[in-house]
Amino acid sequence: MHKIAVVGTGYVGLVGGAGLADFGNHVVCVDRIEEKIEQLRRGEIPFYEPGLSDVVLRNVREGRLSFTTDLGTAVRENDVVFCAVGTPEGEEGRVDLSQVDAVAREIGTHMDGYRVIVQKSTVPVGTARRLRKIIEETQSTPVEFDVVSNPEFLREGSAVEDFMRPDRVVVGADSERAMEIMRGIYAPLYINRTPIVETTPESAELIKYASNAFLATKISFINEVANVCENVGADVQVVSYAMGLDKRIGPKFLHAGAGYGGSCFPKDTKALVHIAREAGAEARIVDAAVGVNREQKERMVTKVVKACGGDVSGKTIGLLGLAFKPNTDDMRYAASIVLAEGLRDKGAAIKAFDPVAAENARELMPFIEYVDDAYDAAEGVDALVLVTEWNEFRQLDFDRLKNAMASPVVIDCRNVYDPDEFESRGFSYEGVGRGRP
Ligand code: NAD
Repeated sequence: MHKIAVVGTGYVGLVGGAGLADFGNHVVCVDRIEEKIEQLRRGEIPFYEPGLSDVVLRNVREGRLSFTTDLGTAVRENDVVFCAVGTPEGEEGRVDLSQVDAVAREIGTHMDGYRVIVQKSTVPVGTARRLRKIIEETQSTPVEFDVVSNPEFLREGSAVEDFMRPDRVVVGADSERAMEIMRGIYAPLYINRTPIVETTPESAELIKYASNAFLATKISFINEVANVCENVGADVQVVSYAMGLDKRIGPKFLHAGAGYGGSCFPKDTKALVHIAREAGAEARIVDAAVGVNREQKERMVTKVVKACGGDVSGKTIGLLGLAFKPNTDDMRYAASIVLAEGLRDKGAAIKAFDPVAAENARELMPFIEYVDDAYDAAEGVDALVLVTEWNEFRQLDFDRLKNAMASPVVIDCRNVYDPDEFESRGFSYEGVGRGRP
């Protein structure tokens, strides 16, 4: 059993903190936002993540998980300090490390004995060494410590399952003492024979960026193929299905759509391009994937305008789903933002329904009329656009939708619906990459 402080109680910190407590460790989760900590102390989860509430409440009840805003005490009272604060995009694709640096300075100030500092946030190669320097410079008591890189691979929407049963764990450490402590923390995963990659901090840091950039590239690749499909009269759904049957390719992340969003792929791809450039290397494929993705999001605007006869000015467009993907309320870099803003700029009014992300979306896009369900979003609209493929949008009463709409035009940005079925019901249907011979 280790005594752990997890700094940053967002998607990664809270899921990770609760998960580490579930592994049998004693964990205190720290955040600078008092309201968040108060909510957690009341047993409320500050964001939407399926299954998280159960793990948090169970570990609180069993005395292994608590919450605080007091980072200093957390550093003094625990042996291991995980850092899971935000690393947003800075200028020119550079990673903004201000939150990480601030935490390192505080850790240095309060450290009064050997500590392992574990970097869970996604940070550029070389950050572990940089943090060592910051901590050394701010230490009030000169004590030994180690900095470990332990990047996180969980996905929002299935974060709890991903943390508890990961494909692999990556630990980058320079010291055997720190590595041994990490083995103890992840003991249940060692017992489960989860592959654990023990490496240097530099390799660990790069593994995270390279993995995310590869997945993002796979998405941009199939989106590019989808665009070719539209021009040559092929159907990307069949093309990607057949490609995915090849075990070397695999079916995952091979779905054409509105482009990737979320808190990771957009910033991590740009960061890798920047990291490579700074190091005198190049990441040209990733750079291209970033460009393809930007254009793919913009293409959705063009698609809707075209489906509306070339002009959306004065028209009303309904959006189904706003979150960057289903099962989350995260709106960061969501494709819906480019689409809604693009249509607004062309004079359209927007109505939208999302099962959980409406509250977050409202802050970003106050110009949208937020409604209570899919049928409301279809009421009187000139076109209905499926933006986020929540399961509840797969089985709607499509005749009821059609009757509610001013004109039966559907744009399916996620290729969820069957074009033939929609057309036989009298809709005009447009998907992504579903060309016809
Ligand atoms: P988030 O924005 O949801 O949470 C970050 C939290 O850190 C916030 O609650 C913020 O208040 C807190 N914080 C910032 N500075 C602090 C300080 N000085 N003291 C205490 N708390 C502080 O971020 P997230 O989505 O959980 O991502 C965290 C990191 O993990 C990022 O580097 C991200 O790239 C990486 N990551 C995210 C995911 C994901 O799916 N969200 C997956 C893998 C890795």
